[in-house]
Amino acid sequence: MPIFLTSHGAAGTVTGSKHLIEVRGNGGIFRVLLDCGMFQGEAVRDVRHDPNRSFGFDPREIDVLVMSHAHIDHSGLVPRLVAEGFNGPIWSTPATRDLCTIMLLDSAHIQEYDHAFDAKRAHQRGHEAEPEGPLYTKDDVPPAMELFRTVDYDMPTEIGPGITLTYTDAGHILGSAAVHLDIENDGRTLRFTFTGDVGRYVDRLLPEPVPFRQADVIVCESTYGDRDHAPVKEAEDDLLRHVTDVCVKGRGKLLIPAFSIGKTQELLYTLNSLSNEGRLPRIPVFVDSPLAIGATEIARAYSTLFRDDVRAELEHDPDLFSFPGVEFVRSPDRSKQLNGVTEPCIIIAASGMMDAGRIRHHLRNSLHDPANAVLVVGFCAPGTLGDKLLQGATEVSLFGDAVPVKARILRMDFYSAHADRGELVRYLKCQDPAAVRRTFLVHGVDHSLEGLRDRLTENGFKKIVIPKRGERFEV
Ligand SMILES: [Zn+2]
Repeated sequence: MPIFLTSHGAAGTVTGSKHLIEVRGNGGIFRVLLDCGMFQGEAVRDVRHDPNRSFGFDPREIDVLVMSHAHIDHSGLVPRLVAEGFNGPIWSTPATRDLCTIMLLDSAHIQEYDHAFDAKRAHQRGHEAEPEGPLYTKDDVPPAMELFRTVDYDMPTEIGPGITLTYTDAGHILGSAAVHLDIENDGRTLRFTFTGDVGRYVDRLLPEPVPFRQADVIVCESTYGDRDHAPVKEAEDDLLRHVTDVCVKGRGKLLIPAFSIGKTQELLYTLNSLSNEGRLPRIPVFVDSPLAIGATEIARAYSTLFRDDVRAELEHDPDLFSFPGVEFVRSPDRSKQLNGVTEPCIIIAASGMMDAGRIRHHLRNSLHDPANAVLVVGFCAPGTLGDKLLQGATEVSLFGDAVPVKARILRMDFYSAHADRGELVRYLKCQDPAAVRRTFLVHGVDHSLEGLRDRLTENGFKKIVIPKRGERFEV
């Protein structure tokens, strides 16, 4: 029985993660979709050919969806998949399900808001409104959430005829998992592994990625496949240095665009540690993102998933994300009030790539002032506003206005939730490369995919493939 693999997203790019496995048997074809992520940034610049509007397969024919983790580039199209007729089970870890609940509602809200904004602007300018509506609305989210079924790490579970799913902790964000499928095939078992996004081997909230059983076929992420992160030991000191430079010495605002899930909790945890050590200056810290606040609550509820040493800290400090001076901003009115704050402060808001969310209001309000600074703590896909700022743009467009960039653009690489090149190789050290028949590299841009391919080749991996979107392989 042939088994086929087709990447319908995150192929030659970092967003839109979607990999389809087709198992052809006597009873017909059984289709397992791995992730259902949204394309973001450059991938959707051409609205006439928005890849989020055509899956490349028929959602009604998918039998089961298996999620690796809750990030939008892995989960963002789940409501659309369901709206277009998918009706099978959606497997995830419990934390991923809980995070998806708030993330997908937030994503629907952003799309409805953006669409209404675009339509209003078009109307004001006497243009025809964009005919395409949002990808989905808030009403599409509950029917999708009803299809979720959860399974913990290391609990083999049958998800289809002769197909067993086992998750292992990928250490990337709360609930993130590598997906291992054992597929019975003509009396043999195909051991298939999809890494999802791989986390770090450094002191953070989450444990290291967990080694996994030998695989025949691996689909591996490659986000940082061609470079290594700076050592993470200095993260606390570096963050403190930026806060001191911008807010204490420069009397400016420090804007930190951050993914609501993962990054924001890492930042709060680090600021909390500095506060506990008595090193954090008394400067107001605003977490201006309802989604980040919700994600922080979920992180508190799943503290059993933290590293052992972090769990031990809970005995002395029951809330690792809260400290004197921090305010969690929920209401839009309070968020708008922050525009009037003239005192030095730190504002943490989504989105990390600055293409959506409340951070855009703060950027419009703050970028023109050289006293202020933007601290980029994560990956910004090509074409996103974050990428433009990092490339040194002197003017950017926000809400239709041209905004001069006078604020400093700072960067802290080591807050990445993604393994770097060395860590990806270390993660795959649990494998006998001679026994891996084929390795597919996804979720990277060209130079990172090629960089990882070269490094894995040096480490004995053979038959490494960089698939194109829609290219089908027998595995
Ligand atoms: Zn991710």
